[in-house]
Amino acid sequence: MEAVTFALIGLGTGSINVLLAVGLVLIYRGSGVINFAHGGFALLGAFIVMDLRTRHDMSWPVALGAAVLGAAAVGLLVQVLVMRPLRTASPLARVIATLGVHTVLIQGVLLEYGAEQRTVPVPVPSGPVHLGSEVVVGKQNFYLVAIVVVVAVTLSIATLRTRMGNALTASAENARAAAALGWSPNLLAALTWGLGGALAGLAGALFPATSTGFISIGQMSVLIIGGLATALLAQFRSYNLALAGGLAIGIVQALTTRYVDQTGVADAVPFLVIVVVLVMRGKGLPVRGSAADSLPRIGTGRAHPALVVPIAVAGLALLRYATPSGWYPALIVSICFAIVGLSTVVLTGYAGQLSLAQFALGGTGAYVAGRLAAAHGWPFELALLAGVVGAMLLGLLFGLPALRTRGVNLAVVTFGLGFALHQILFSNSDYTGGEFQTKLESLRFLGLDVDPIVHADNYGLLCAVWFLVLAAVVATVRRGRVGRRLLAVRTNERAAAAMGVSVFQNKLYAFVLSAGIAGVGGVLFGFSYPTVLYQQLFVPDLSITVLVVTVIGGVGYVCGPVVGALLAPGGVAVLLFDTSSAMSSSDESFVRFVPLITGIVLVLTLVLNQNGVVDQLAAPVRRLWPRRARDDEAVTASAPRTPVAPKSLEVRGVTQTFGAFTALAEVGLTIAPGQVVGVLGPNGAGKTTLIDVVTGYNRPSSGMVVLDGVDVTAWPPHRRARAGLVRSFQSLELFDDLTVRENLLASSEEQDLAAYFTGLVRAGTPRMTDTVCAAVEELELTDVLHRRPQELSYARRRLVAIARAIAARPSVLLLDEPAAGLDEHESAELGRLIRRLADDWGIGVLLIEHDVELVLDNSDRVMVLDFGRVIAEGTPAEIRRSDAVRRAYLGESLVEATP
Ligand code: ADP
Ligand code: MG
Repeated sequence: MEAVTFALIGLGTGSINVLLAVGLVLIYRGSGVINFAHGGFALLGAFIVMDLRTRHDMSWPVALGAAVLGAAAVGLLVQVLVMRPLRTASPLARVIATLGVHTVLIQGVLLEYGAEQRTVPVPVPSGPVHLGSEVVVGKQNFYLVAIVVVVAVTLSIATLRTRMGNALTASAENARAAAALGWSPNLLAALTWGLGGALAGLAGALFPATSTGFISIGQMSVLIIGGLATALLAQFRSYNLALAGGLAIGIVQALTTRYVDQTGVADAVPFLVIVVVLVMRGKGLPVRGSAADSLPRIGTGRAHPALVVPIAVAGLALLRYATPSGWYPALIVSICFAIVGLSTVVLTGYAGQLSLAQFALGGTGAYVAGRLAAAHGWPFELALLAGVVGAMLLGLLFGLPALRTRGVNLAVVTFGLGFALHQILFSNSDYTGGEFQTKLESLRFLGLDVDPIVHADNYGLLCAVWFLVLAAVVATVRRGRVGRRLLAVRTNERAAAAMGVSVFQNKLYAFVLSAGIAGVGGVLFGFSYPTVLYQQLFVPDLSITVLVVTVIGGVGYVCGPVVGALLAPGGVAVLLFDTSSAMSSSDESFVRFVPLITGIVLVLTLVLNQNGVVDQLAAPVRRLWPRRARDDEAVTASAPRTPVAPKSLEVRGVTQTFGAFTALAEVGLTIAPGQVVGVLGPNGAGKTTLIDVVTGYNRPSSGMVVLDGVDVTAWPPHRRARAGLVRSFQSLELFDDLTVRENLLASSEEQDLAAYFTGLVRAGTPRMTDTVCAAVEELELTDVLHRRPQELSYARRRLVAIARAIAARPSVLLLDEPAAGLDEHESAELGRLIRRLADDWGIGVLLIEHDVELVLDNSDRVMVLDFGRVIAEGTPAEIRRSDAVRRAYLGESLVEATP
């Protein structure tokens, strides 16, 4: 019976989840953005009601109306002023923008009302209801449920029945579809942001009903977790699912509060459940046709030692000998922030994984190190090492969801994990040994007295040296083999796998390495205080802040975190403002505005350049010293064509169904070394699906793929690629932010494990192998090696894609419509090249083409597919004569041309 009581109480919290989630879904459908500022909107609603009811004695309808309209207006403004200018920016930039807006809203409310708890009268009728003899619940819970049921059902019906609803459904599928229905995408986005804001405002206004009339910023900042979790459950699509999911989460939360005797679990467990659901539903590789998004620009990781070394030495000297002692605390905060920022460069910049848990990982490092140092007397050096290892282990764990989820979903998951960590570990005195127990005394590092109070100068120096070392590591990683692998994964997971790059390995590597770096930052940050207060120092919001400021600084650049860290809370920026206010003491109130102003500056900077401040600064440099072709000398003239390992491919009775649809039915074929097998067939015949199955992108419903006598049907794509089964893509899927040369290198380089370690200290000189040189020569790419694919013509890009596939030294090469977009001459040239690949190198080629002549002229055998079935097979001459083929596929012109 008690369980029933708590379940019913959970309906109240669940209703708030639903309201928030419904708004999140609406905004997502209208503009493709997950609004991390949604909790801020709710906060605004709650405080508007509080203000109007308690300070101005307004009536309920007025207060409620003002909250809803106020939040709606803010939503609309955010769309028009921030999101609209960013609509073509990278998803990362857009997430950061909403996080920036979140900061601004929180700081605004903080300025006006302070952080303390306030009371508001409960907005709906309350008081106990007796259900039977044992169950007693507050009335307000039922009112809330009634309200959210009405909201969710109304939205569901409106989606089906109204023109705007239809347009939204259409635009969620395809931005242009809505335009075809006569709706401007901008209008749709503005309407949904306004409406979503209104719903969040309503959620905030109703929130006191679930907290017996108390509100505070701290309490309400947790709400977004429930909202996001619910929206994820609803797949950012269904309002009815949001209704059911939100209430269910509320109930689980209430029950956990009652029955689990562990601090924080109630807040965290529902989220962990969602993580599991998401990960189970996710895919190892993105599906075919996932849109390639624009990504923040990445630096080269190169620096002139003659420039960097003197600057670094001078900086260290200044820091140690010429800095007023009062500046050290702020400087230390900024440097530690910059170190954690470096971890973001590796993970988010290079590997493209959106993590909102970096500060939490740093906190783990501080936790492990702090406990070992304080409770077990470990020396600083060893404690630091242990902290870093601890952070790396947890980083490995946090990286696991990234193997199945990506993009913004991953941000939600990692934020939840970081949040859970804060609730369960940092806030629990059972684990931290009590709030004030991690006391650190007389710190020494390699014999140097680095006590942060007595010798702040030495401590600052220690932090700065660590930053420089780690910055060098990060830059080295960028220049080396591993850097190219990470960038390949970030740009295009499908293509990376096709070149033999293990997406799995590289993502985990990025998570572990970045967690280690964050660990160093976290330990140094924590140890800079005489007592490490984990709960206060490592709040989840700081993980957001560190990502936001690093992206503003430039997430693709090693210098990005330096610029970003200037804006860290309590960092150097505050120092500047503080000294100015010391000069005119009446300005004290101005200092209060600093966080708010910083927030606004952040959002503005982002709107102006999504690649960050450093990128902006680097622009004139790029113009003065454009990328030179100096690397091109590496191309050996007339490189030898050495035969590849001869392997034959056998496809046995492969059937592929998608639901009730059969894309391939009992297809079989054999390709011997040095043989070219052509596949003809109209659009939709199943040709690309055949390649997907052979290379591991689809698991066939039945049948077998055998390479060199080994059954590879269960192998993942990268493993097949390494074994010599390499494909090209109909849609090219080049690595757009690598140069052509780097594209080829990424594909030709060894996929060894050792590089993950040696790459930290030595970038190595990338060597163009004979195969790469030969491919460059054959496809005449020498003059574009230093260009990026986007700068080339479409035909040229197609050739790069083919060269990239050849660079991997395949035994069997599967080409998906390689001649599309080439002119007659180029396509004949390509035909001859394909013959040479087979004849000179011994590569077995599967050639899928629409250009019938190209296939018939250059293949040894030809197979014709129609509706997933093999309708003819034989030598080119036999195919030309086949009646079935003529009827089903070949045009009359060809028939006439055949003697
Ligand atoms: P082709 O390359 O010969 O033009 P495809 O192999 O791309 O044809 O597609 C064959 C058929 O299978 C098409 O009708 C396509 O819509 C369908 N198809 C391909 N992949 C999937 C998938 N992942 N889910 C559902 N249907 C698919
Ligand atoms: Mg195709």
